[in-house]
Amino acid sequence: MRVLADLHIHIGRTLAGRPVKITASRRLTLINILHTAEKVKGLNLVGIVDAACPGVIADLEALVDNGVLKPLSGGGLSTGKTSLFLGSEIEIAHAQSRGSAHFLAYFPTIPKIKKYAQRLEPHVTNPDLSTQRIQLSPDQWLELVVESGGVALAAHAFTPHKGVYGNCVAHLGEMFTQPQLISGLELGLSADTEMAQLIPDTHSYSYISSSDAHSLDNIGREFTVYDLPEMSFAAWRAALVGENGRICANHGMAPALGKYHRSFCPVCDLTAAEESPILKCPKCGGPVVLGVWDRVMSLAAPDVLPPARPPYVPHVPLNLMPGIGPKSLQQLEGLGTEIEILYDKTFAELADAVGEGRASQIIRAREGKLAFIPGGGGKYGTVQKWQEKGCDT
Ligand SMILES: [Zn+2]
Ligand SMILES: [Zn+2]
Repeated sequence: MRVLADLHIHIGRTLAGRPVKITASRRLTLINILHTAEKVKGLNLVGIVDAACPGVIADLEALVDNGVLKPLSGGGLSTGKTSLFLGSEIEIAHAQSRGSAHFLAYFPTIPKIKKYAQRLEPHVTNPDLSTQRIQLSPDQWLELVVESGGVALAAHAFTPHKGVYGNCVAHLGEMFTQPQLISGLELGLSADTEMAQLIPDTHSYSYISSSDAHSLDNIGREFTVYDLPEMSFAAWRAALVGENGRICANHGMAPALGKYHRSFCPVCDLTAAEESPILKCPKCGGPVVLGVWDRVMSLAAPDVLPPARPPYVPHVPLNLMPGIGPKSLQQLEGLGTEIEILYDKTFAELADAVGEGRASQIIRAREGKLAFIPGGGGKYGTVQKWQEKGCDT
């Protein structure tokens, strides 16, 4: 079966309104996520990365008790339409580089993630909250995940903001004694497959694309398409490690739109545009917030032949598309899910809903005809304005 999965979604609040991810929208509750994924975005699998927090576990247990979610036989939960995987994002310090990075662990069942959460609890400051820094070595954490029956991934692997390659090491072997126990790398918003392939150390890992959503709007802005023999955690794990089933494609933002695509100097308010990696500010010589592109280029070994990969299909999420404001979004909602709008709806269908100008914009994005002003330093890139009557912002 064809599975469209976004496996990195935060919880803003529990169903009782208690904060989980403080910086995330309070509308990011389990119920709203399931509804948005199915009806608004068109995904059939979501991963919750705050599912080891006691408040979220309690919500999940309540949803199973009242029949909204049913456990799948091979692991995972399902509403019947949308499936849900239980994940946990944590931050691990790396002593040698003095950096720290985010990692993700996913578990097949509520009892398994509960056990992991219990074993993690003595090593974090506030287990009720999202993405805690753990007082364990990278190896100790990885051992804990494997022993608890989990799957470990590197989150947004290339970003300067807590990505393992972006902020800590050039080889995962510098961080873990058994790096082969990491099952995949999340590309993050500012990188794509072609960029990641330039780093030979990444070649043995699967690449996956997920949104890292802190709001309902951003769910599905990146997703991975799998071909699985059935919907289950076991089937997903087998596809990830190349045993059975497969990853068909990564869909995500054009990397220039990402928040850390190029290096940025906060003093000069300058985003690098040079065609070589920028590691210090070209204007004042000061330190930069390293860009993902700049970091990747400085680790690149383009002569090493990369393995064949599923395609990376870049897109422009509707909320980053110029000319598409809240009113247009509302008009488009009646037409189908965001994935259908970005990929499938015809010009005539789109034009009927939002007029020809905006419809052309969506089609041009689909055809890869838009130009971008790259993001950097935590600011998203933008689509270069395309002048046409009927486009407002
Ligand atoms: Zn993170
Ligand atoms: Zn500067």
